[in-house]
Amino acid sequence: MSKIVAIVGRPNVGKSTLFNRLTGTRQAIVNEESGVTRDRNYGKVTWNGVEFSIIDTGGYMDNSADIFEEEIKRQVQLAIDEADVLLLTVDVESGVTDLDLNMANMLRKIDKPVLVVVNKVDNTERTFETAEFYSLGLSDELYSVSSINGSGTGDLLDKIVEVL
Ligand code: GDP
Ligand code: MG
Repeated sequence: MSKIVAIVGRPNVGKSTLFNRLTGTRQAIVNEESGVTRDRNYGKVTWNGVEFSIIDTGGYMDNSADIFEEEIKRQVQLAIDEADVLLLTVDVESGVTDLDLNMANMLRKIDKPVLVVVNKVDNTERTFETAEFYSLGLSDELYSVSSINGSGTGDLLDKIVEVL
């Protein structure tokens, strides 16, 4: 059975766009509105001869306070249980948020590789804004990507198959 990589992160950071980029498909539904991915999406990726499954988490995200937090935690816990590697995806446009920190706290306790993927790094200027994500306390290395134009995704895939 192939190993599983799960993309986790709060709504609108670009999880589904990253999923589409990595799988090379348009499977996941991407929308300007947060929480549009209807279900957990599974895809296959082959990189350097290594095949793995990838999950786009997200699902229904209700913006009303309690359900929102609870749903996020549920999604992250599902991913933690199911996956071999987790991609905590964050958004350089918004910077570090409380929800990012909450997820980082959950992921810091587990004994599986967690890669911090800083998305929306569409140009060089934005690479200078990524350092604040070291404060999540999850890794010595950040993976800066643009899921829109694909930059950085090769380095990310190299790392994924290395830690799988
Ligand atoms: P999700 O809720 O985490 O699955 O996020 P989506 O994949 O639905 O994307 C949310 C919004 O962010 C959409 O408007 C995307 O077009 C946009 N987005 C995703 N990736 C990038 C990126 O690399 N750069 C920019 N500028 N926008 C992005
Ligand atoms: Mg989505």
